[in-house]
Amino acid sequence: MSRDLVTTTEDGLWCEAGGFHIDPWRPVERAVVTHAHADHTRPGSGRYLTAAPGVELVRLRTHADAVVDGLEYGERLTIGGVQVSFHPAGHILGSAQVRIERAGEVWVVGGDYKTGADPTCAAFEAVPCDVFISESTFGLPVFQWPDPEEVAAEVRAWWEGNAANGRTSLLCAYALGKSQRLLAGLLDPPGPIAVHGALDRLLGPYRDQGIELPSTEYASVEVAKEVRGRGLVIAPPSANGTPWMRKFGDVSTAFASGWMTLRGPRRRRGFDQGFTVSDHADWRGLLGAIEATGASRVLVTHGYVDPLVRYLSEERGLQAERLDSRFEGEGDGAEESAGSGEAEGPVVEPVSGPGHGAPEGRS
Ligand SMILES: [Zn+2]
Ligand SMILES: [Zn+2]
Repeated sequence: MSRDLVTTTEDGLWCEAGGFHIDPWRPVERAVVTHAHADHTRPGSGRYLTAAPGVELVRLRTHADAVVDGLEYGERLTIGGVQVSFHPAGHILGSAQVRIERAGEVWVVGGDYKTGADPTCAAFEAVPCDVFISESTFGLPVFQWPDPEEVAAEVRAWWEGNAANGRTSLLCAYALGKSQRLLAGLLDPPGPIAVHGALDRLLGPYRDQGIELPSTEYASVEVAKEVRGRGLVIAPPSANGTPWMRKFGDVSTAFASGWMTLRGPRRRRGFDQGFTVSDHADWRGLLGAIEATGASRVLVTHGYVDPLVRYLSEERGLQAERLDSRFEGEGDGAEESAGSGEAEGPVVEPVSGPGHGAPEGRS
């Protein structure tokens, strides 16, 4: 038996002492999953265990007769020779960090996480541990998120400006997590809101959990007529430039993503406007979260892995290592596309600061 509580196999992160995988990328017998994004919850496993608020979303991602069990945040369950519990990751509804304890040794698998405020999910909780497995989607100092309330005000101003010019506002964002968060910032909307079908089916689980969202309508042909020239339409990024958009008439398009923080024209990828919104931690968020765990060893799984590993070892004196995985960061729809590999984020030039050297792309 490996001395490490969590290792990687060809199926995914593996806890041998507990006999389960965490966010496996291939079907396995027992999957403990951190959240319902497609790169973390893949269909086909025998049974799934996730944090209770995410059960419905995980079920939507898996086959109809999949066994999906929920465990309340903080509740402990013995699986094999280990104790398992889920703790809020602040990423999307139901997202969790997985805490695994064996004989006093504690490992935490962070999954995807963010430390900023988000009214659509429980706030990130720092869980003390010996070893922390962290993502690094935006692990470069250049990533620094603006105040979400300011961004919500920008979205509203853009919408109002478009309506004044007789244009429909088409806001593209991931269907799961980002879209709900954008909606939650528009509780008193200046006009009607229509949503793409991919998003419409994901709103129910949020409303069922008591998350307050403005009223929305599925963007049918009739509804498209109603919102044309004045409403807001929310759709996944893949809808941009497709014939589906035509029914909204003259549109102004926008993309909400962490990548929008980068300057330069290519960041917008064909959108008229960009808003910086991410469900992943920015550079300071990552460092703050890692420090708060008190972990002396940090394994970095995806995103700008090397700059974060280097910073943690050289500047913080931690035992930091790369842990290869098949998780994806925030691409143009990565978290919806079940890891199709077409979700490369923009190339980021190396920046000055602690993350010196050339960053690699997302793996
Ligand atoms: Zn995610
Ligand atoms: Zn992910």
